[in-house]
Amino acid sequence: MKRVILIKYGELTTKKGNRNFFINTLYKNIKNKLKKLDVIISKDRSRMYIEFHDSDLDEIKNKLDCIFGIHMYHIAYIVDTNIDSIKNLLIELVQKLEFSTFKVETKRSDKSFSIHSQEMNRILGGVVLKNKDNVTVDVHHPELFIKVEIRESHSYIYFNAYQGAGGYPLGSQPKGMLMLSGGIDSPVSGYLAMKRGVPIDCVYFEAIPHTSLDARNKVIELSKKLAKYSDEIHLHVVNFTKIQEEIYKNCHPSYCITIMRRMMYRIMEKLAIKYHGLVIINGESIGQVASQTLTSMNVINEVTSMPVIRPVACFDKLEIIDLAKKIDTYDISILPYEDCCTVFVPKHPVINPSLEQAKKEESKFDFSSMIDDAVDNVNTIVVCEEENTFKDLL
Ligand code: ATP
Ligand code: MG
Repeated sequence: MKRVILIKYGELTTKKGNRNFFINTLYKNIKNKLKKLDVIISKDRSRMYIEFHDSDLDEIKNKLDCIFGIHMYHIAYIVDTNIDSIKNLLIELVQKLEFSTFKVETKRSDKSFSIHSQEMNRILGGVVLKNKDNVTVDVHHPELFIKVEIRESHSYIYFNAYQGAGGYPLGSQPKGMLMLSGGIDSPVSGYLAMKRGVPIDCVYFEAIPHTSLDARNKVIELSKKLAKYSDEIHLHVVNFTKIQEEIYKNCHPSYCITIMRRMMYRIMEKLAIKYHGLVIINGESIGQVASQTLTSMNVINEVTSMPVIRPVACFDKLEIIDLAKKIDTYDISILPYEDCCTVFVPKHPVINPSLEQAKKEESKFDFSSMIDDAVDNVNTIVVCEEENTFKDLL
């Protein structure tokens, strides 16, 4: 009995003119994720099919669970599209299964198949009743849901449904630049952006010796978790020490965070241009801290005309934590290493900064060459999902 994985696209099917582009992007991503396995992948407008070896099934499922654009998938038995073959396979299958109630649901995609869906349900239901002892039909709460799909080349019988990662295939949008700190919010933001099809480069600002290599390693570990949803991820590490020291030497303490974040945004914009990203993505959440009031966001955002996407802007912290646990970043994020934001945090950061004052504070030192230096000397690390597979690029 041959099995295939049957993939349903879900939200992609709403993409009328672009449907092929989305399906082809998903196809490419699946092929790439499964490249080390001996599989045959094919596609049509409504389904993708993966032929596999039984021994690889768990590994394939783990990988499919991290591919955006898959709405649902099934492990299906494949059979020729003719009524006798379908009946025979069904008899063979139900004899091996334990259940007392069932329901058959047929989807007839091949309209040239002469038996309509309702009629198929009736016929196949009869076949099960006749060949399996002590079972009855329950259309409302069946123990066994028997799904039958009639398609032109083949038909499929399955009893299971696995939830896919949802969203749009990665690469169906241009690249975004994620500001990745060691906190809880930014990895979740990266995950949510990727789920909308946005491939990401990550950017981490560090201030060695004020921050440690442990803090950097934490961000690398977080990047690895995100790389599960991608092929590999480029993590750009920005040396932020000099800029940060200058800020704290020259600016009024209450404005240091505002100015620091304006500098980060300036660098982000330049890095986006350098690495062909179209948007900045971060983990800001409205009202979470002083720099994330709407007034602060306005003053900080003023330095760039590039769109800033804040996927968790309107989430409660607890909602963010739930997602962080789901994507397995939470335990890494709560490790206690100091971040460049926390090291320098002033006692009373301004909650409602004024743009005029921010500009005045910035005029106290010459930062433009330091920004260019930070961009020119960025250290890029290529991070892959597997253990110990990242390497320095530069
Ligand atoms: P937490 O989960 O504790 O709130 P956080 O990472 O969200 O941590 P914030 O101070 O709230 O930290 O910063 C808001 C956002 O700014 C972060 O989500 C992240 O996108 C970005 N950011 C902050 N610090 C850094 C950093 N050192 N490197 C890169 N991005 C940073
Ligand atoms: Mg935060």
